[in-house]
Amino acid sequence: MDLVRAPDWFSYSTLDTFERCPRQYAFRYLCRLPAEQARPAATFGSAAHAAFEAFTRDRRQRSTRGEQPPGRVDLERWFESAWAATSLPAEPEAETWRRRAEPMLDGFWAAESAVHFDTFGEELRFRLRLPLDPETLVVVSGFIDRIDRLPSGTVELIDYKTGQACAPDEAESSLQLSIYALACRDSLGLGRPERATLYFVEQDRRVSVVRTDAALDTVRTDLAARARQIRGSDFAPTPSPRSCGWCDFAALCPVNALAAGSPADQTRGAGLDCRDGDSISRWPALPTPL
Ligand code: SF4
Repeated sequence: MDLVRAPDWFSYSTLDTFERCPRQYAFRYLCRLPAEQARPAATFGSAAHAAFEAFTRDRRQRSTRGEQPPGRVDLERWFESAWAATSLPAEPEAETWRRRAEPMLDGFWAAESAVHFDTFGEELRFRLRLPLDPETLVVVSGFIDRIDRLPSGTVELIDYKTGQACAPDEAESSLQLSIYALACRDSLGLGRPERATLYFVEQDRRVSVVRTDAALDTVRTDLAARARQIRGSDFAPTPSPRSCGWCDFAALCPVNALAAGSPADQTRGAGLDCRDGDSISRWPALPTPL
């Protein structure tokens, strides 16, 4: 059987998934099995992101034309448009989700109206190239929700979050913010950001962290080490209540099959030849997504 090509493309999500469970990573990013279905919370977050992106983009474009910024009604319109394009209106709890949107949009609108923000761009794509050795180059890529120019001449990168705000120490240790700050400096050419911010829009709360140049150099080294670890992994499952409770591939997981004990259960997922203890090297080859 062909060997799976060692992955040479990573993102914050792929690294986070591998950290939680290497087998879940393999199901999702090597076998490319689809997630069971989008979760309403994630879909709600996507609609909110789309509305905020449209708002700041339109404000930038109007500013260059010397026009007034968009209003609250425009923000609502963009949210409604994004909402209608999702599966949320058909959810049993659609009205609950819809009611959550109003205070969130109010809070965002009030915060954006209170201060002059000079937004550089939205959904900025980056590609960090990391040489692992003279022959091996891997890429860490992603999108930064928003980058603002600051009066100091530097920038602030912003990642929108719906849901509960995290504690400051969680933001301090955020791998996502570290990757984005490194990308700002080493991929987008915008220099080291003055701060990197998680913007919890439902509480209208910003949690910012600072990454020094030395810290960003360490992040580079850490990312290369993570890439090497994944490329050398046998993708053994690492079950835990936190990971398995949200895993889209639990029905295929050899850990579940062995726990269930029946012959039928134990052969679930056999088409993928991913029984516990099997090496990923026995799986079919798949092209690398780019
Ligand atoms: S069910 Fe648990 S152990 Fe199995 S792949 Fe998912 S997270 Fe990993």
